[in-house]
Amino acid sequence: SVPAAMASGLSAGARRGLLIKGGAALEEIGAAKTVAFDKTGTLTEGHPKVTDILPAQGTSESDLLTLAAGVEQGSSHPLAKAVVAAAEARGVATPPVSDQAAVPGKGVTATVDGRKVSVGSPRHAAEAGAQLGGLAEAVTRLENEGKTAVVILADGTVAGVLALRDEPRGDAAEGIAALSRIGIRSVMLTGDNARTGAAIAKGLGLDVKAELLPDDKLREIGALRSSGSVAMVGDGINDAPALAAASVGVAMGGGTDVALETADAAVLKDRVTGVSELVSLSRSTMANVK
Ligand code: ADP
Ligand code: MG
Repeated sequence: SVPAAMASGLSAGARRGLLIKGGAALEEIGAAKTVAFDKTGTLTEGHPKVTDILPAQGTSESDLLTLAAGVEQGSSHPLAKAVVAAAEARGVATPPVSDQAAVPGKGVTATVDGRKVSVGSPRHAAEAGAQLGGLAEAVTRLENEGKTAVVILADGTVAGVLALRDEPRGDAAEGIAALSRIGIRSVMLTGDNARTGAAIAKGLGLDVKAELLPDDKLREIGALRSSGSVAMVGDGINDAPALAAASVGVAMGGGTDVALETADAAVLKDRVTGVSELVSLSRSTMANVK
């Protein structure tokens, strides 16, 4: 049975929107040396907006949005929703699409008006053999601003670039500083490109591992565990295996059911500051148990 001190720790957490699934989880959280954070939807709001529309020569803005929104329609990926919303806001009709296929961590492809179209990372475009030409400099600039640039290819040729910004959560920097004050290192894990990841991480004050495919996030957790207990905080989109692989998994409240099921604890109100509160609660509770 759960000792009285632990039971009162669990209920003190619950009162503050910190859900902990039992005594073992409560104990483990306080032992964390490192907290690994998923970026999208965890450190950021998870609702990116299209900020820049850069068609290639010979393509109009609305042609570019038509292609991009055509490929992205129906997808639940946050970038896809943002692209479709940008097209709708400008009154651009989305054309019929077939053969839609997601390329995890890279983008999505489909047939639009008989053309093979893809929307994805600059790395995905490069792997497809596409040349960014005059748009390469713009992509670098946008990424250094902390934006995610996606490249639209039509039959292998660059039709243009869209940039999207996902705002950091209002308390993200504060939440990371609070962890640092109690001796915990924070690392951001992201599938986003290295420049975007570095720009966001610098603003928030934590380390970053970027350009990670879903399997890479899992491997990264394994590597971090070799130097001590690791808590992973995520929303369950692309990161459920990493949540399960960590010493302790923490779901952000607005996250998916998968995250809530997989995790050992949850911060119910999407507060990044809730993570250091979990650690402190664990430590003070265990001090009373021992
Ligand atoms: P995150 O780790 O931020 O959740 P993902 O693994 O979902 O990122 O995606 C990594 C990268 O792959 C994105 O930054 C983007 O460049 C590209 N990508 C993935 N899905 C899409 C999509 N539906 N549309 C455009 N680009 C995408
Ligand atoms: Mg994600």
